[in-house]
Amino acid sequence: MNRILLASAFLLAAMAPLLADELPSALPASAAVSPAPKTPAVKLVEPHLHIARSNLAGHARIALTFDACMGQADERILSTLVRERIPVTIFVTARWLKHNPAAVAVFLQNPDLFELENHGENHIPAVDTPTLIYGIASAGSPQAVRQEVEGGAAAMVAAGIPAPRWFRGSTAKYDLSAIGEIRAMGYRIAGYSVNGDGGSLLGAAITEKRIASAKDGDVVISHVNQPTHAAGEGVAKALVDLKAKGVQFVRLEDVEDLGDDKTTE
Ligand SMILES: [Zn+2]
Repeated sequence: MNRILLASAFLLAAMAPLLADELPSALPASAAVSPAPKTPAVKLVEPHLHIARSNLAGHARIALTFDACMGQADERILSTLVRERIPVTIFVTARWLKHNPAAVAVFLQNPDLFELENHGENHIPAVDTPTLIYGIASAGSPQAVRQEVEGGAAAMVAAGIPAPRWFRGSTAKYDLSAIGEIRAMGYRIAGYSVNGDGGSLLGAAITEKRIASAKDGDVVISHVNQPTHAAGEGVAKALVDLKAKGVQFVRLEDVEDLGDDKTTE
């Protein structure tokens, strides 16, 4: 998720009453309250993912995952990860890779810290029928889902990154058939269990609290591409909080996992 997507969703929600107000008054009351025509309903899922717990008191095992959707690199977070030597999994798009070569160089210089995985080519939701998610058009066909996944992977390999094994689509929402298609391409699909930064839109204090309260076996999602948002400050603080608690940080490639909606089994 990102701010543009959410802003679009709010805009659409704000528009609905206007549409109703503009209906001709001669229409019967039942027509006046009927919703505006929409795209066909598509059943979407936002899968959960957990990792195997450590079951060690005082050493909760947590997988921190970050999305690099588009835009820039958040140095507040990246510098803390490197300084504190905290391993994480980062999902990158082809678009973000292209615009952030300095951050990519830091990733490649620290392969013990950064597992890089596939967030798609153009940050298009991996849903194989046409619909809107937060106001953004889905890929809309199996071919377009495949292009989003393959385009992301190709850009990673071209940038010198090992071939990805995990995929997380834009908005983290899918339809079940797209999940099947992506699994058939050999990927595990990365859900999450803790929404750390609310699409990078939350304040610093609440973001810090959410992430710092992650439990044994949790997979945290937050963003590393919004350096001007307050949330990133909270993320950076939470990293230090978790380390002080004795947390065992792991990457998705390091542990057993379990995702619902057939995302990993
Ligand atoms: Zn994203």
